[in-house]
Amino acid sequence: MSEIPPRDTGLLELPLSDETLDHSVYKTLLESTKAIPWKIDWKTLQFAYIGPQIEALLGWTPESWVSVDDWATRMHPEDRDWVVNFCVSQSRQGTDHEADYRALTRDGDYVWIRDVVHVVRDAEGEVEALVGFMFDISERKAYEEELTRLQRELEAYSYQDGLTGVANRRRLDDNLSQAWEEARRNTQPLSLIMIDIDHFKEYNDHYGHLAGDEALKRVAEALSRVATRPRDSFARFGGEEFMWVLPETPAEAAQQLAERCRREIFKLQLPHAASPVGCVTVSQGVATRIPAFGDTLPSLLEQVDRQLYLAKQGGRNRFSAVG
Ligand code: GH3
Ligand code: MG
Ligand code: MG
Repeated sequence: MSEIPPRDTGLLELPLSDETLDHSVYKTLLESTKAIPWKIDWKTLQFAYIGPQIEALLGWTPESWVSVDDWATRMHPEDRDWVVNFCVSQSRQGTDHEADYRALTRDGDYVWIRDVVHVVRDAEGEVEALVGFMFDISERKAYEEELTRLQRELEAYSYQDGLTGVANRRRLDDNLSQAWEEARRNTQPLSLIMIDIDHFKEYNDHYGHLAGDEALKRVAEALSRVATRPRDSFARFGGEEFMWVLPETPAEAAQQLAERCRREIFKLQLPHAASPVGCVTVSQGVATRIPAFGDTLPSLLEQVDRQLYLAKQGGRNRFSAVG
């Protein structure tokens, strides 16, 4: 009668026991995997072993990996300090760890490696050796980098106006809140210029919507070049309206910019048969504020809108300012 094995069969009793898997089998297995096994003697900091696969991956022969210095010097300079410090401190504490870094190839290129390290202790609990596997993660890294690039691109698109290519309303809202908070914190004047194309409905009616779109692009392009300080930001507010957000800008400077906007658009001389001037023009509202206690951004926006209305009332192709 055959003996029924006990239910609680541990791994050691399975056919793949230590006796069956002798040293050469282990070695064959280790050297046929994609992961590259290695061992470092902790006392001498010398490589006791490194899998032959390393040569196919990096070009350096297994024999050329003598000490941890070879490992450290064959690492991208930007990764070296933190990786070496991290691995040494983790090993000293006897903690298993892993690190991603760029390993230098013999041809002078770099390959992304994930090194997974296990700390081996002797009977007294002292660190005796480090053993580990190096994994080629370059494909994964390339994929991650591509993903990050795409995410950035997507984010940039989400803040860009599809027609004119300038910042969109979403970006404008972010910029406005940020500029308002900074102006409040630093007690600095914040100026806004709201710009609206004159008689644009009639432009569309007369020349068609496609020509209207082209005119919008030209106007946006010209307006966006007027202010040049890095923190000034320009955006499409919506429809045929645009806005300049001008941090740390007093009223006079903002008015000078508005006058430049007016002139730049006039200089374009985009024919507009239905306009009394004969070409495309803009009207603008300008408002400047040092945010006071209890002051709100919407009240500044209302103010700039009111100034725009006054500019329209005043005859268009001009600005009206307050502040
Ligand atoms: P005002 O001088 O008082 O500003 O008159 P207006 O005709 O410019 O103002 P209104 O608000 O009556 O019309 C705005 C026009 O802008 C109407 C709309 O068709 C046009 N418009 C808004 N967005 C776009 C766009 O993306 N493309 C085109 N072609 N036209 C647009
Ligand atoms: Mg309008
Ligand atoms: Mg208009």
